[in-house]
Amino acid sequence: MTRDLLCENVSVSADGQHLQFAGIDTVALAGQYGTPLYLMDEDRIRACCRAYKAAVSAAFDGNAQVLYASKASSFKRIYEIMREENMGVDVVSIGEIYTAIKAGFPMSQTYFHSNNKTDADIAFAMEHGIGYFVVDNEEELFAVEREAAKRGIRQSVLLRITPGIDPHTFEAVSTGKVDSKFGFAIETGAAEDILVKALAQPHIHVAGVHCHVGSQVFDAEVFLLTADVMLQFIADMKAHHGFVTELFDIGGGFGVRYLDSDPVLDLNGCLAEIGRFMKQKAAALGIALPKIAFEPGRSIVADAGMTLYTVGNVKAIPDFINYVSVDGGMTDNVRYAMYQAPYTLFQANAMNREHDMTCTVVGRCCESGDVIQPNIKLPSTIARGDIVACLTTGAYHYSMASNYNRLTRPPIVMLANGESYVAVRRETIDDLTALDM
Ligand SMILES: *Cc1c(COP(=O)(O)O)cnc(C)c1O
Repeated sequence: MTRDLLCENVSVSADGQHLQFAGIDTVALAGQYGTPLYLMDEDRIRACCRAYKAAVSAAFDGNAQVLYASKASSFKRIYEIMREENMGVDVVSIGEIYTAIKAGFPMSQTYFHSNNKTDADIAFAMEHGIGYFVVDNEEELFAVEREAAKRGIRQSVLLRITPGIDPHTFEAVSTGKVDSKFGFAIETGAAEDILVKALAQPHIHVAGVHCHVGSQVFDAEVFLLTADVMLQFIADMKAHHGFVTELFDIGGGFGVRYLDSDPVLDLNGCLAEIGRFMKQKAAALGIALPKIAFEPGRSIVADAGMTLYTVGNVKAIPDFINYVSVDGGMTDNVRYAMYQAPYTLFQANAMNREHDMTCTVVGRCCESGDVIQPNIKLPSTIARGDIVACLTTGAYHYSMASNYNRLTRPPIVMLANGESYVAVRRETIDDLTALDM
């Protein structure tokens, strides 16, 4: 049986029976740590960081930087890994900032996003020496100025710009996407207006501009369209106001494989194309290309993750549907319920058996929408106690996990150099009641 296992860190044991992840037997891991269980391949995360850094550096002659968008998966260990890999990170809340601080991550390399930072958020971030605020709206600009004035510092910021690119059709649209909740649109004049206001603030240093358009992107096109619009804006702002953009952060959104039908991203080729385009465009506009930042989230951690479940009830409704219930659900993976996100699943303890039964894998929550994946294939012999693996769960799973139905959140077990260790312990029922007065 040859199957596409999506990523090079997924394999099958020599006897053909068990699914392996990062070279380790998943059935043994399920036995050792219990289920539901999040696995994270540390070696893969590090390899992704290094691949990005090398590709970006090659594409922009070293004048570039990679930031990990940590909302994809945020826990202490991941910030330690990012520190060791010399990555920058994006954060979106004081919870993420605090977690990064606890991991000893250097705050100067931290970029604070969010479309609604409270005054308390702003004070907390500045107190801890955040590198950059990515300013999303005018109120925030003035709040950052007030807080910086109070502290007698000059705070670096990027301005979040909405370039007017439709991420679904990848078209530059003249009116669309001005309706985003994020940032300042170029075509309405809001972007230029906020730049002028920001430049007038004595305690703010405008380091540059930011935008983020794509999601699950497998080629350069959306980045080229975005760069085209943004570099024109950068050139216009130099011409109108003498403003020199030091840093242009073009966002994240690179794709990963959830299904065997998903393409493999050619990271080096894609970034080289973006680099060539931007250099040409900057030369044509007569400006120096600013330092370029990318901020991938999903593609740093997604295929470094896998979730293991134990099968409970298997329910056949002849001529209609087969349900396979697992011991997790929308509490550890809300992405099917939220976006009908696709997944690949296997019976981890029977890889040698044909996956011949069409079934819908559901969780244990009191909610009919609690589906991990409909209409997938698992062996018809699957039964209570078997182990099911859901692949590509490293991004937006743990970070979106909930305690609905008072289910405890799974632990995160890291795999590195053929060994496993707990990075986040399993929640207990006492954790659940710890906040109740
Ligand atoms: C979510 C987000 C990212 C990361 O997107 P991915 O699709 O996970 O790569 C980067 N930048 C911003 C501003 C984001 O909101």
